[in-house]
Amino acid sequence: MNLIEFVEKAKKLKPGEYPTKDLIQKYQITIKKEFLDIVRKWKKQNFDNHWRSDNNQMKTGKLIKLVEEVTKGMEYHYREFWPNKEIEVVTKVDHYCMFFSPNKSKIRIGFDTKNPSIISTLHELGHAFLGFNELKACVFSQAIFTKVFPNQFNKLVWEGHMLKKCQKK
Ligand SMILES: [Zn+2]
Repeated sequence: MNLIEFVEKAKKLKPGEYPTKDLIQKYQITIKKEFLDIVRKWKKQNFDNHWRSDNNQMKTGKLIKLVEEVTKGMEYHYREFWPNKEIEVVTKVDHYCMFFSPNKSKIRIGFDTKNPSIISTLHELGHAFLGFNELKACVFSQAIFTKVFPNQFNKLVWEGHMLKKCQKK
């Protein structure tokens, strides 16, 4: 795929339509240093602090804290994209998602509390900051994950447009 084809393909993606691995890997996005700093600080306090032995409820609590810390620290940034909207976490859905409240005043990030996932949380934060474009959200979450969790990133495998934890057989 040449660059022009690539850009055309990226532009044609509709909300909810997922980009290919190829497209994700070619797309570049700049992540603000403040953003990375917040995620690094969260990692030190939460991931490096017995994440492996935490149960799903504890992990979900830590991931909600990540959303809160990022949205508080980067408020000026996401407000450029969504003026007048609050971000709130919803745990009553069973999958990771991003949607608006009925009156559209709030951005809601849905959590899969049975499968707490850092990269999925970052993906939904990508939507909260950059809108519904799937390519941007995929590239955004992977760029942060690679930089802040390099060891964990190497353990992920591609499954369609998503990077998932390798299931040991
Ligand atoms: Zn998405």
